[in-house]
Parts: sequence; C-alpha cells; structure tokens
Amino acid sequence: MQEYKNYINGKWVKSSSGKVFKNLNPANKRIIGVFQDSDEHDVSEAIESAENSLNEWRETPAPKRAEYLYEIANLLRDDQERLTKIMVSEMGKVYKEARGDIQEAIDIFEYMAGEGRRLFGITTPSELKNKFCMTTRIPIGVCGLITPWNFPIAIPSWKLAPALVGGNTVVFKPSSDAPLSALELVKIIEKSGVPKGVVNFVTGSGKDVGDPLVKSKKVRCLSFTGSRDTGEHILRNAGLKKVGLELGGKNAIIVMDDANLELAVEGIIWGGFGTTGQRCTASSRVIVHKKVKNALENLLLNKVRRLKLGNGLDKNIDVGPLINEKAVEKSVMYTEVGKNEGAKLLIGGKVGNREGNFFQPTIFTNVKKNMRVAQEEIFGPVVCLITIEDIDEAIEVCNSISYGLSSSIYTKNLNNSFKAIEKIESGLIYVNSSTIGAEVHLPFGGVKDTGNGTREGSSGILEFTEEKTIYIDFSDKMQKAQGID
Ligand code: NAP
Repeated sequence: MQEYKNYINGKWVKSSSGKVFKNLNPANKRIIGVFQDSDEHDVSEAIESAENSLNEWRETPAPKRAEYLYEIANLLRDDQERLTKIMVSEMGKVYKEARGDIQEAIDIFEYMAGEGRRLFGITTPSELKNKFCMTTRIPIGVCGLITPWNFPIAIPSWKLAPALVGGNTVVFKPSSDAPLSALELVKIIEKSGVPKGVVNFVTGSGKDVGDPLVKSKKVRCLSFTGSRDTGEHILRNAGLKKVGLELGGKNAIIVMDDANLELAVEGIIWGGFGTTGQRCTASSRVIVHKKVKNALENLLLNKVRRLKLGNGLDKNIDVGPLINEKAVEKSVMYTEVGKNEGAKLLIGGKVGNREGNFFQPTIFTNVKKNMRVAQEEIFGPVVCLITIEDIDEAIEVCNSISYGLSSSIYTKNLNNSFKAIEKIESGLIYVNSSTIGAEVHLPFGGVKDTGNGTREGSSGILEFTEEKTIYIDFSDKMQKAQGID
C-alpha cells in the first residue's frame, strides 16, 4: 500500500508521531493509499518553514512570482488526464466533472499569473496642494489554507494562486477525504520550481491539524472553505488574523410559468445531481410556479429515471457515489425527515449499489418552505420542489433560508429577471442557467451564513493581500488635512 507524506520546507516527510490514516475510493471502498495523520508538531514545523521563506518570496517581484503560476498551469494541463482519473477514484465525481475541476485550477493559475503584472492600487488626488496619494497591495504573511474534498484541486488552487502571486507563503491542510488530489497539486507546485518553504502541505484531521493552524498567532491569514459549523468554529478560534470563510448553501432554481421547461429541467438535473449534489452551489430547491408544476414534474421524472449511477471512471455514468458512508447515512436520514414532514417522494430515496457509497437521485415534491429538507444543507442528490403563485412569493421563498450562495431563475420575462436579480439574497445569480457553473474571472462567494463576505475567483487577490496607503508631501512645509491651520 502506498504511503504518502507531508511536504515541509521542500522535503517529503513523515508525521512526527509516525501515525497514518487510510483514504478509500468511494465507488468501491478500496484503499487508495495511506497519508500522514499529523498533529500540532508537524503544523508548527510547517509554519516555521513558511515563516522562514517569507522574506525572500515577498521580495521576489510579483511578475517573477507569476512565472511560477504560468508554469503550474502548464504542468496541470500536461497532466490533466492522469489527475482526472486520480480525482474520480478518490472522491467519486464523474470523469467530465473531474476534468473540469482541473480545468478550473488551470484557469485560476493563469488568471492569477496575470495579476503579477497588475496588483493594482489606486492613485487619487489629495485635498492639499503638492501632495500625492496612492495605495499598493502588500502580502499578509503566512497563510493557512483549509479546504474541503468536493473540489479537491480547484478549491486549493483558488486559494494557492492568489496567495502565491500576492507574495505570501502557505501551510495547506486538505480534507482527509481527498488528500491525494491535493498532494498531486503540491507535487506540481514543487516541479514548477517554487522555492522550498513557500508551500507547505500537512495532512491530518481538522482537530489535530486544522485547529493548531487556525489558532497559531504566526499565521496572519486563514482561508477556509467548508461547512457552516466548522466555519463558525474557526471564526471563534482564529483570534485577530484575517479570516476568509466560504461556507454552505441551500440554493434554489425558480421556474416561472413562462420558462422554457426543457431548459429548466436540464438546469435542475445538472445543478441537483451534478457531483451527486455535493456542490456548495447545488440546486437543492426548485421553486416552481403552480401553473407548470405538473409539467415540470413529468419532464423531470422522465429524465431522472434514465440517469446512470456508478463509478465515474466509466464515461457513460451520470451520477457518481457520495464521498463516504456518513454522507449516505445523511441522505437516508433526510429522506426519512422529508417523508415525516409530509413531503411527497417523487423518485429515488434509496441507497444504491452497496459496493460503494451510492444513493439514488431523489426528488421530493409538495415541500413547504419551512420544512427541514427545504432549509438544511443535505449535500447529497436530493432536490425539493416547492410550489409558488407569483414572482414575489418565489423571491420570498428563495430568501427564506439562512444561506445565500447561488440562485437561478428560468423565465422569459425581463421584469421577473430583474426583480430576481435585485431582490434575491445571494452572492451569485443566474438567469436561464443552473445554480452551478462559476467562472474564475468573476468574484465567487455568498452572503448571510454562506460566509463572512470574502470573495474568491477574480477577487481572491483582495483576500490574500492588504492595502497600504501612501501619502507623499512635496510642498516642503507642514500641511494638515481637514482644513486645520
Ligand atoms: P468540513 O467538514 O467543514 O471540512 C472542511 C475542512 O475543514 C476539512 O479539511 C476538515 O478536515 C477541516 N476541519 C474540520 N474541523 C476543523 C476544525 N475544528 N478546525 C479546522 N479545520 C477543520 O466540510 P466538508 O464536508 O469537507 O465540505 C463540505 C462543505 O463545504 C459543505 O457545507 C459545502 O457547502 C462547503 N463548501 C463551500 C464552498 C464555497 O465556496 N462556499 C465550496 C465547496 C464546499 P478533515 O475533514 O480532514 O477533518
């Protein structure tokens, strides 16, 4: 069985305790490999390494730092096929989606490499004569990156690329459910020639590796993507460092009575069952106008019946396994909750082939907005249909949750579209397209309980740099602002 190591100060090393943990293929429960079950000692070595490398890296001109990012993008592209297969085997998303995950990483490294020649500040007039005002963007310092398993290469890349081009050094802790994809990304970073100590990689649990990283005063920025509960815990423990939180979602697709229903059904299937419903932007609620409810249900049933569940390495498979057994139990549990709450099970609701962590694509109808299945993030292939009478009710139902990540509306009516754009409480909104499918050169993130206002994607550079404000007085006299003599 292959043993994989941590990467600290440019060397592949074992955890100080010598402990390891296993990682399983969710499609057949076979062991992928063993990884270092690290603890606070390993974290503190990684932080020290990142601290020691900081000065040299932050003093490397940003366009030079960017050259490494271009190289990382090239290496990822060259290795896309192999990495895709590793990702499918490790976390179960189907082949074309895993390929897309790596494509997203390539895109963000290229986009952020361009930032090496921007890193724009502002220049602005002074209220006084002979005085010049401007800002620059500066590195924050050592950054801790903690990531989930559902985008095991893309999400780390959304953090690593801006952190590196911004002049920071990092300690990266991946999810214990997908450490191999993350490790392969780190190997590519190593191959690109990024100097030792700039990127450090430590595997292990949230408790033993995540917590010490969050609490360390030497870590000046902590960027986290994961569940709301872990995000809240991190915010309570991080002290005064800069914290970026990208958390869960309970995203809705609104289908109005004038919508192109065939198109809406494609969007619901892609958003509800893509990545087996395990995307933060998954379309787990469908808010449908009463006039088209029956027609939509029939069209959905027709398509969902034909979805093929199985190992995503087979290119004919539409829906892969869930990440682990706990995730299957969670979908089973919510199916029971939905039934007990009085929702009608339209299709699915059962565990699939037990060789892996399979759960059937599931649709509930006659769901009420306050039911638990309509409020809580299930993170499985479960879609809830809620009926409404008009656009105002649709928006009210859409907003009746604590999260605020992604929303969508299918309509041909311009007024409905703009009402939705203006009034829906979410960080992303799509018109006539599903809730999933973000592009890297736009900001990505949510409002309300989905986070604390940071944005990734094109705005990642704001998360990983600070502004410095500079005043240059060339009047040769003491000048005071605010009209003070
Ligand atoms: P999670 O359980 O919160 O775990 C995320 C990461 O946090 C893992 O690396 C985990 O480590 C670590 N962690 C756990 N406890 C910790 C602690 N006490 N201190 C520090 N780190 C800790 O989430 P997940 O199940 O991996 O991911 C699914 C969630 O992520 C969903 O809620 C989804 O909506 C959200 N998500 C959000 C976005 C977004 O951009 N908004 C994108 C993708 C996913 P271990 O698991 O190794 O213990």
